[in-house]
Amino acid sequence: SYRKGGYHAVRIADNFSAGRYIAQKKLGWGQFSTVWLAYDTESSKYVALKIQKSAPQFSQAAIHEIEILSAVAAGDPSNDKCTVRLVDHFKHAGPNGQHLCMVLEFLGDSLLSLIKYNRYKGLEFHRVREISRCILTALDYLHRELRIIHTDLKPENILLCSNINPSKDPIRSGVTPVLERPEGNPNGGVVISSIEKRLKQRAKRAVARISERRIGMGGGVGRTPKPPRILDGIDFTCKVVDFGNACWADSPIAEEIQTRQYRAPEVILQSGYSFAADIWSFACTAFELATGEMMFTPKTGQGFSEDEDHLAMMMEFLGKIPRKIATSGARSKEYFDRYGDLKRIRRLKYGSIDRLLVDKYKFSDADAREFAGFLSPMLDFDPDKRPTAQQCLQHPWLNADSETSRLNAGMNDLEIKAKK
Ligand code: ADP
Ligand code: MG
Repeated sequence: SYRKGGYHAVRIADNFSAGRYIAQKKLGWGQFSTVWLAYDTESSKYVALKIQKSAPQFSQAAIHEIEILSAVAAGDPSNDKCTVRLVDHFKHAGPNGQHLCMVLEFLGDSLLSLIKYNRYKGLEFHRVREISRCILTALDYLHRELRIIHTDLKPENILLCSNINPSKDPIRSGVTPVLERPEGNPNGGVVISSIEKRLKQRAKRAVARISERRIGMGGGVGRTPKPPRILDGIDFTCKVVDFGNACWADSPIAEEIQTRQYRAPEVILQSGYSFAADIWSFACTAFELATGEMMFTPKTGQGFSEDEDHLAMMMEFLGKIPRKIATSGARSKEYFDRYGDLKRIRRLKYGSIDRLLVDKYKFSDADAREFAGFLSPMLDFDPDKRPTAQQCLQHPWLNADSETSRLNAGMNDLEIKAKK
């Protein structure tokens, strides 16, 4: 893909935007772009530099993403709506063509890597709550204030805000920027990358050590792990990123949206989608954070498609799709008969989310009931019946921690009064 119309090849210490940004190391890549850690000489901060492939369709997509990101930034001057901030954008001419570049605030690891570091065991409820509050704050802002649908919400597209990343604390993290390529060393970033590697390993070990073990899953080996110092930097706030597929609700971007496992039933059935499609993906994400496993992993089978397996799984966890909904989409006839039964998958094993949480993930009955009570309304087959992000933010499950702390605070007040 490093050819005409494709990616722009970057070397450490390459300059962008008339020398303002200096490339440090590659952070990641997607279908359309590569993302680099860069040093912003104007603000003396690290930033993420997203460099788009140069062919016209990629530039067009980048223009759309910049438009959305600009609206997201403009509506949130205090930058507290849990959405990634666009700092700058410009064009960069290279041997493969003109590349649109986006400069974004530099964030930490994705929730997917957090789940991996945690060895797919699921996070403690208080962390799931913290993260859920952030994501819902972002969705409430996007939906209600901007009328934007994200359309690709999933753990990979939610990045942690963490102080162990060098942009926030370059001194403690010990990373100094490379400003020019060292003489005679074309890979001039060796020193940096070994420090970064060590930092990353430290962070990985730290997160692994706090890997929360659920009651009934065994208590771990040896002594009780003491939270390492590095965890001071992880406060579990996070931000939603990747607005490459986002759209305004009144001009839907495509018929097929969302990554398979997070795809809402109305998208599969093509009965029209809106904000509620993001709510469905959010529920799948919250389930994955709490259990360590994806909620739906459909597969093509003998005599049925991935879509049909997906619809069958949804019904097995959530109950039968009401006939009216099952038969209302442009693709309904491919999958359902006129009674609202799947044509090619006949015998379903009906269960429920709370049974699944208890039987497979060993949640206590009370935990399962409460968490399922939070998730179930968001997984309503009828998108119009799903709660809005604003309503989700009010749910008692999400506020259970603060409820407890308020109670404790109240107790302390009483104790203080009693002492007086
Ligand atoms: P794509 O649209 O091509 O999927 P993304 O915006 O998702 O691109 O970025 C690709 C990868 O780059 C992400 O998965 C992440 O690893 C990294 N990345 C993107 N934005 C940032 C950021 N602001 N800070 C740190 N890393 C980022
Ligand atoms: Mg992405």
